[in-house]
Amino acid sequence: MTCKNAPQGDPADPADWRTAAACADLPHHSVFAKSPAKADAVLRACNQCPIRRECEAVVDPAHTWFDGVSGGRLWRNGKVVSTG
Ligand code: SF4
Repeated sequence: MTCKNAPQGDPADPADWRTAAACADLPHHSVFAKSPAKADAVLRACNQCPIRRECEAVVDPAHTWFDGVSGGRLWRNGKVVSTG
C-alpha cells in the first residue's frame, strides 16, 4: 500500500519530484491519521522527506480542511495539531 497523501508522480520520470516521497511505502491509513500517535510513522518520514515543501503546497491543508499529515505536520480541519 502506498501513501495516498503524497502527490503521485511518474516513476518513469526521474525528474518528477513526487517520486521522492518518503512516505511512499507507508500504509495510507497512517497518513490520514487523526491523532499524533497514529501519525507518528509518517511524521518521522516527513523529517527526511525531500519534497516536504511541495507536499504542503500541493495538498494545501489550511485551505482544503485536509485531515492527516502533510508537509511534516498533522492537520485537522485546516489547523495544525500539536504533536509535541
Ligand atoms: S512531507 Fe510527509 S506526508 Fe508529505 S510526501 Fe513527504 S513524507 Fe509524505
